[in-house]
Amino acid sequence: MSKVTNKIDRVDSIINAGWLIPILPHKKILAGHSVAITDGKISNIFPKEKAIDFVSKEVFDLPNHVLLPGLVNCHGHAAMSLLRGLADDMALKPWLQNIIWPVEKKYISEEFVRDGTELAIAEMLLSGTTTFSDMYFFPETVAEVAIASGIRCQISFPILDFPSNWAESAKEYLSKGLAIRDKFKHINLISTVFGPHSTYTLKENNLSTISTLASELDIGLQIHLHETNQEVLDGLAERGERPIETLFKLGLLGPKTQCVHMTDLNDEDIELLSRTGAQVIHCPESNMKLASGICPISKLLNAGVNVGIGTDGAASNNDLNLFGELKSATLLAKINSMDATALTASEALTLGTLGGAKALGMNKNIGTIEVGKLADLIAVDLHQIDMQPIHNVFSQLIYVNNGSHVTHSWIQGEQIMHQRELLKIDQDNLRRRILKWQKKLSINEL
Ligand SMILES: [Zn+2]
Repeated sequence: MSKVTNKIDRVDSIINAGWLIPILPHKKILAGHSVAITDGKISNIFPKEKAIDFVSKEVFDLPNHVLLPGLVNCHGHAAMSLLRGLADDMALKPWLQNIIWPVEKKYISEEFVRDGTELAIAEMLLSGTTTFSDMYFFPETVAEVAIASGIRCQISFPILDFPSNWAESAKEYLSKGLAIRDKFKHINLISTVFGPHSTYTLKENNLSTISTLASELDIGLQIHLHETNQEVLDGLAERGERPIETLFKLGLLGPKTQCVHMTDLNDEDIELLSRTGAQVIHCPESNMKLASGICPISKLLNAGVNVGIGTDGAASNNDLNLFGELKSATLLAKINSMDATALTASEALTLGTLGGAKALGMNKNIGTIEVGKLADLIAVDLHQIDMQPIHNVFSQLIYVNNGSHVTHSWIQGEQIMHQRELLKIDQDNLRRRILKWQKKLSINEL
C-alpha cells in the first residue's frame, strides 16, 4: 500500500488579502483569498485556509486590505510634473503656444526629463499605478528611469514636424525613436510605440511614413486626436476632413492605434472607431481643466469600443492619481449622459485596469488577477476611519479612495512599495533635485 502525502507547492511569495478583486469575472469580490507568485507570475489563487499547502519565501498578511491588479495610466507626459502649477486656468491653444512650448524650448534637457520622470513615477506608484504610457522628449531617459524604479512603461516616442531639444526633424525623431525600440526590446518592463503628437503638428507625408513603418514593423501608435472642437474644425478647413478621417485614409486607424482625448465625436466617428477596433484613451480631468470637451465614453462602450484612462501630464491635471481620474470619469460620464447609472464603480475599475491593459496591447500579461499573468498587483488599506463603513468595496475604491490608501505594490512579482515606502526611489534625494528645478523654472523671461 502506497503512502499518501500532501503535495507542497514551493512559491516565491504569498499575499493573503482581506478581499481580492480579480476584475474578471466582472463585479467579483473574493473574501479572504490569497495569491501565490512564482517567477514574477501569478501561480495560484486560493482561499487563504489553503495557504498551509504552500512553502513560500515570503508571506504578506493584509487582512484589512483589498488586493487588485495595478492601475494602468494610459496617457501622460511624465517629466511635465516639473511644470505642475506653472500655468493654470488657460485654454489648450494659448497654454501650449504661449507657455508650454516656450518653456520646453528653454529648459528641456536630459536632466529635466530624468528628474521630472522620477517625480511622476513616485507619485504614480504611491497612488496605485503600476503601468504608465509616456510621450515625451528624451524617451531613452524615461525608459532608464522606469527600469530603475521598477515600473512598467510604454514609451510613445514623440514625432513632430518642428524641432525640439531632442530632435530636429520628423526624420530624426523617427530614427532616434526606432533606435530606442531596438535598445529596450528585450526588457520586459518596456514596450515602445510611435508617438505622433497629432495631425495638426505633422504633415501628411510624415504621417504616411509612420503608417508604412508601423505596418512593416507591426508597432502600435499613440496620438492626441480630437482633443478639441477647434482641432476638428481646423482639420476640416485645411484638409477637408476630420482628423480621424485623415488617420483612416492613411491606414493609421486599427486595433493598435491609441486615440487620446476624443472629445469631439459624431456618430460616424464612433462607427469608424468601432469598425477599425481602434483604442480610445479618456483623460477626463485634463479635458475639464483645459475646457477641451467631454469624451462620450458611455456611447463608445455601448458601441463596443475599448476605453482606457489617462491622467495626461501634471501641467494640465494637476496630479497623476489614477484613482482620482476614475472617480472623475464616472462623474463626468453620469452628468454628460444625464444618467446616474452610467459608468458604475466596478465598470470604472475595469477601465482603469483591464481597459487600460487592452488599450496598450498588454492584456495577455496584465490587467486582471489570473493564473499565468504577470504579478502586477496593488493593495489598498480599507482600515482607515475615512473608509468606514465598508458596505461595498468597489464603492470605497472609486468614490472614496483618492490613491493615498494604496500601501503595497508588486510589479512582475517584485515588491516596489511596502507600507507606502517606495523601495526603489530615494524620496529625500528626489525632493532636493525638484527644489532646484522649482527655483530655476520661470515663465517671466520667456
Ligand atoms: Zn497629452
